[in-house]
Amino acid sequence: MQQGTINVQTENIFPIIKKFLYSDHEIFLRELVANAVDATQKMKTLSSVGEMKSDLEKLQVEVIVDKDAKTITVRDNGIGMTAEEVEKYINQIAFSGAEEFVNKYKEKADQIIGHFGLGFYSAFMVAREVEIISRSQKPNSTPVHWRCDGSPNYTLEETAKKTKGTDIILHIAEDSEEFLEDYRLKEILNKYCKFMPIPIKFGMKDTWVDDPNGEQDDEGKVKQVKKEVPNFINNTDPAWIRKPADLTEEDYKSFYQELYPMTFEDPLFHIHLNVDYPFNLTGILYFPRIKNNVEIQKNKINLYCNQVFITDNVENIVPEFLTLLHGVIDSPDIPLNVSRSYLQADSNVKKISGHITKKVADKLKSMYDNDREDFESKWEDIRIFMEYGMLTEEKFFEKAEKFYLYKNTDDKYSTHEELMERIKETQKDKDGKIIILYAQNVQEQHAFIESASERGYEVMVMDSPLTSHLLTRLEQKHNDVQFVRVDADTIDKLIKKDDELPSKLTEEEQNELKPVIEGVVEEGKFIVSFESMSESEAPMIITENEFMRRMKEQQMAGGGGGYQMFGQLPDSYNLVVNSNHPLIDSILRESDEEKRKALAKQTADLAKLAKGLLKGKDLTTFIRRSVEMIK
Ligand code: ADP
Repeated sequence: MQQGTINVQTENIFPIIKKFLYSDHEIFLRELVANAVDATQKMKTLSSVGEMKSDLEKLQVEVIVDKDAKTITVRDNGIGMTAEEVEKYINQIAFSGAEEFVNKYKEKADQIIGHFGLGFYSAFMVAREVEIISRSQKPNSTPVHWRCDGSPNYTLEETAKKTKGTDIILHIAEDSEEFLEDYRLKEILNKYCKFMPIPIKFGMKDTWVDDPNGEQDDEGKVKQVKKEVPNFINNTDPAWIRKPADLTEEDYKSFYQELYPMTFEDPLFHIHLNVDYPFNLTGILYFPRIKNNVEIQKNKINLYCNQVFITDNVENIVPEFLTLLHGVIDSPDIPLNVSRSYLQADSNVKKISGHITKKVADKLKSMYDNDREDFESKWEDIRIFMEYGMLTEEKFFEKAEKFYLYKNTDDKYSTHEELMERIKETQKDKDGKIIILYAQNVQEQHAFIESASERGYEVMVMDSPLTSHLLTRLEQKHNDVQFVRVDADTIDKLIKKDDELPSKLTEEEQNELKPVIEGVVEEGKFIVSFESMSESEAPMIITENEFMRRMKEQQMAGGGGGYQMFGQLPDSYNLVVNSNHPLIDSILRESDEEKRKALAKQTADLAKLAKGLLKGKDLTTFIRRSVEMIK
């Protein structure tokens, strides 16, 4: 028997490993199973170059728990290790790696992500003692038995082992006994090993098969009997590593189900990623139906490294807006044992996120080009994603802007260019700006939409939470364009033309009426002014200044606007009196002071009603008063 001291300076590294990696003890299993998978994969490589012969079909990894002995064994029939190899790979390399790791991260353990590459020694996070029993596939090799109790001392001796391959036996420490529970191991295997490339067996499971004696039931069908079969926990051939040409739409959908068993909605469409130069990347990204529930959909992309699950948090690896997508990214070229903030600066990560952004934009463009109708039918689900991307990624904006769709109140979709073509004359104001009218709430802004339509104007429906920010961005890009919400002003002023109607009310008359109207609305909330509009317009209209409203919205949506200095902005409206309306004229001529006030109040309330501002008690009073007046 050989005894030795592991080649490390630190007196005892294991307490340190344990202490600093507390958050993620469960990854020990991923590391050991990944090593076992590697060892079997090496058999495939060697036999493909003709160096070793073996039955590749039978390659497998097995995870075995023994609750009485309190051990977990990770068994493989892979390449195995000779005594020299254990000496070299475990005693020297693995443990010097451990020491380096500990020294590097002692002070900043919180920066470690995924802890990938921890390797073999992560076993000591959960085990008080680890054994390796291995027999190399090399001809005439002697099986070896290595033991280590977490101190830098180990023993290495010859042993008997019939089969080739390696057993790693973990004697689970008292504080880690949760890992002896089946359900816990299943959960961990399902999380990290679900798509590893070699079958992984964990226990047995029941399945129903035809009765081996051929017994039949009453209907003459062969009876079904229970049978115990090995339980393989993984799919060794996940969709993302297969060729797109070999996959059907159904395959993509069922893979989505496999990834998110708790999701019942099908994704809208997908993108299959496959790059091997200048970096390695495979994966499938799915577009979920996003609607407005952005937060629920976010951060569901799973990051893999050669089919080993690393994390479901791809923040800093892909641009923020892409975290709305679902699916898998698999790349060995993303450095995983560096800090998150460092990741963004990594040139490979930059290239990868640039590539994904481009692929996503290209996919959307090709959908738009190839089947506009289908694209339109999906638009409501894609829109938020597009807007998010356009607002946060300049490169994406440049591409996406060309097929960003505006929907008008008749449900007709247009690109910016198409819309311009239609409205560039009719909706041009006297200063040459083209005004795009929009509504954020078709129901609430109905009265305003109606009068705009009567003028022959088109109104776009822009009701996403990002609308305000997006409009501002689009105006920066197209400086001949201005967005104005339909209720931002009276119809004549919405798109200012030269021709002003003469006013029936003189200035003196307006001055006489103004305080009367001011007296019937809340002070400070409404600014009363007169405007000479057509008789067919309403007698009073309440509008909301575009600029002030947008500032308020952007402030509420947070970020981007930079208007925080205004503090909480109060609601403020314009009450515009139509100086040509006969009703206004009668209010002016009413000699009974009380009646005049009541008329003014009723008319102002009507305007509030049209704007959706009349609620609760005020609304009740308004209705009662109306009834009285009709009587
Ligand atoms: P890494 O896997 O990153 O190289 P590890 O510490 O996990 O680092 O493992 C060190 C080395 O030990 C591996 O590179 C491999 O050569 C060897 N090894 C570990 N587990 C096995 C195994 N189950 N079968 C054969 N060799 C193994």
